[in-house]
Amino acid sequence: MTNTTQTPTLFLDFDGTASSRDAVDLILEKFADERWLAVEEEWRAGRIGSRECLARQMALVRAAPRALDALLAAIELDAGLGALLEACARLDVPVAVVSDGFDYCIRRVLAGACDPRVKKLLRGARVCSSHLSYSGASRWHAEFPYFGETCAHGCATCKPAVMELLNARGAATVFVGDGLSDAYAAREADFVFAKNGLARICRAGGIWHTTFESLSEVAARLEDVVAELSCLTYDAGAGARA
Ligand SMILES: [Mg+2]
Ligand SMILES: [Zn+2]
Repeated sequence: MTNTTQTPTLFLDFDGTASSRDAVDLILEKFADERWLAVEEEWRAGRIGSRECLARQMALVRAAPRALDALLAAIELDAGLGALLEACARLDVPVAVVSDGFDYCIRRVLAGACDPRVKKLLRGARVCSSHLSYSGASRWHAEFPYFGETCAHGCATCKPAVMELLNARGAATVFVGDGLSDAYAAREADFVFAKNGLARICRAGGIWHTTFESLSEVAARLEDVVAELSCLTYDAGAGARA
């Protein structure tokens, strides 16, 4: 099946990629019992998946909604997010946000975005993330709608599975991310933009990637990437790839 006329789909991590700071890390640092650090260690060492990690960590948080909201309101979006969304719109590249983080936090951070252009462009983007709800008495509860069954990696939100689900048209995929929870997605994507922890993982694991600091750099490269990937899908259609 050829996809020569299809533009790729762009999958964007949220915390630390679309946003400047990781909301979950900030919440844990400020509001969780310090046992969250031992859970984090287990995850970083690969002994538990991010789903178990987040469920256990969020159970250690005690915060009134107003305190949590004030923390989230201080998180800024990457200064290049608007430019990236505009480039995607111009090149007809669909955008989806895929996040281990929480819908509650993403909504709050986006609501705080002062740039109306960003808000408008984001309206068309699908957001697939974990779900956070307030259970009263300063307690919070994490749930994981993507997907009901825990995947083999133990992901909070299984990014490769979301990519497959949202990319039913079989187009090439571009992934943009910054951390450990992006590693499985980076292995599956056709083109990877990576920074910080994800760039280190890609280097160590031999995953081909381009590094970036701001999303404006991703925006500036996107047209070339789209052109490159349309050659790739053409070759696949011609039988160059099984
Ligand atoms: Mg991230
Ligand atoms: Zn997974």
